[in-house]
Amino acid sequence: MQTTSTPRDTQLTRRTFVAATAGAAAVFSAGGTRAAEQAAEALPELPYAQDALAPVLSAQTLSFHYGKHHLGYVNTLNKLAAGTPFAGKPLEEVVKATAGQASQAAIFNNAAQIWNHTFYWRSLAPAGGGVPSGVLADAVNASFGSIDACKAALTEAALTQFGSGWAWLVADKGQIKAVKTPNAETPLTQPGVIPLLTIDVWEHAYYLDYQNRRADYVKAVIEQRLNWAFAAQNFARV
Ligand code: FE
Repeated sequence: MQTTSTPRDTQLTRRTFVAATAGAAAVFSAGGTRAAEQAAEALPELPYAQDALAPVLSAQTLSFHYGKHHLGYVNTLNKLAAGTPFAGKPLEEVVKATAGQASQAAIFNNAAQIWNHTFYWRSLAPAGGGVPSGVLADAVNASFGSIDACKAALTEAALTQFGSGWAWLVADKGQIKAVKTPNAETPLTQPGVIPLLTIDVWEHAYYLDYQNRRADYVKAVIEQRLNWAFAAQNFARV
């Protein structure tokens, strides 16, 4: 089954993401000081309406998760980065430059959480779910043996991430892998690893809709909202 996506879903290549954030920063800073211009990261637009993922994820969940949590990381990063060499730098560059640097942990955590959340919203789609197709399906089958085994591995990563974090499908040296990262950590910082899809398993991602039932959230997302077309776009960069 071919998944569907909005035109905006198909546009999140590395180049357009950087360009979009840079452009948004310029708009955000209109009329501001030079320092403000350099510091301004902007909250990327959601690729669908806040109620478009219901009933798997309610509009209330998106209003808090996107409108409070994601926005909060943007605002905090702008405060932390102001007046530093990271102000005005492309988000991916900030994430990679601060990864593993204890003295830059706060900037890394907020920058990586912006990137992870933007990637998460694009990993979901109102008409998502189903299975991958084309060369991505071939790679998934070669790596896992079947699409169902891939989904099971992604589910396992999501359910065994202790505490807050993320489950991912990534491409790593020709293999598709299911991995997990704690807190704000992201495969983006791992050389040669290309993120394909992610599922946020912080409690704020599912608690309003599923309370403590992370397994129900993960199952519903994988079966009904996972955006395989976005994964295919990312896989094309490998
Ligand atoms: Fe989150």
